[in-house]
Amino acid sequence: MVLSDIEELAKKLNIDFWGVASIERFNNAPMGRKPTDILFNAKSVIAIGIQIPKGALVAQMRFYEGYDPGKFVYLHYGVQIPNTYLEIASINISRFLEKEYGWVSVPLPPSQPYDRANRLGVMSVRHIACAAGLGEIGWNNLMIHPEIGCAVRYGGVVTEGEIKQTMLYGGEPLCRPDKCGRLCVRECPIGAISATESVGFEISDRNFCMGDMDKIYCQALSVLELDSSLSKQRWTKIVEERTRENIVSLINETQTPMKRTATRLCGKCLILCPVTRTKMRI
Ligand code: SF4
Ligand code: SF4
Repeated sequence: MVLSDIEELAKKLNIDFWGVASIERFNNAPMGRKPTDILFNAKSVIAIGIQIPKGALVAQMRFYEGYDPGKFVYLHYGVQIPNTYLEIASINISRFLEKEYGWVSVPLPPSQPYDRANRLGVMSVRHIACAAGLGEIGWNNLMIHPEIGCAVRYGGVVTEGEIKQTMLYGGEPLCRPDKCGRLCVRECPIGAISATESVGFEISDRNFCMGDMDKIYCQALSVLELDSSLSKQRWTKIVEERTRENIVSLINETQTPMKRTATRLCGKCLILCPVTRTKMRI
């Protein structure tokens, strides 16, 4: 298999970014998070990315300014539709590899379905994108792409095929907390990202780190933003008290579509990151 096959497929499937990592790059991944955990004979992982339209980011910025309907544009065109494209692309890439080359290939869901208790998908598509050289993961826990910052949704395919891997990102550091003063931490409305505690991970022989993030707090905020039936007092109480029990019960009580997804609807750490704003000119 040559990389031009993937390039051609990516074009057909409206994929903006792609890369390939050999499974050796995941040698130091924790148990249960390696490509071989889902496919014993895995040899490579293909990462794919779709750029979020600038208009969806601008609409969400209007929401931050108080224009409530902006959030529906971001939810649909910034989250759900790009994820649908990724799902379709992943299954098509898998089918192509299986039909043309006979390699068993596992498509990875970009968001739901996922393990709700632990807020974990099959594999982290952000880590796959990082391993395939599409950028690096920032303090905000999101992939930062050198051309457009965090405004990309990712998916992937684990395959038995041995495919020539693409280079790891080797440019200037993309996340610069020294310059932005950890804006993602300061802007997070629910304090989900730690300013001081970090989580490290290894890809190939390189060490990366990101801020320690409480996914359940982040998800709670997304639920709150979509459920307009929640009273202002309830919202204030939850944000002020921030106990895990009341956040979990809130998620279980509400009926919004975000209840079922791991994706962050609020998006402040994605949109307001200075790398996204500079690269996307928003
Ligand atoms: S706002 Fe962006 S550049 Fe700044 S620390 Fe967070 S992820 Fe890094
Ligand atoms: S999406 Fe919003 S709530 Fe979630 S971590 Fe980012 S800024 Fe915080």
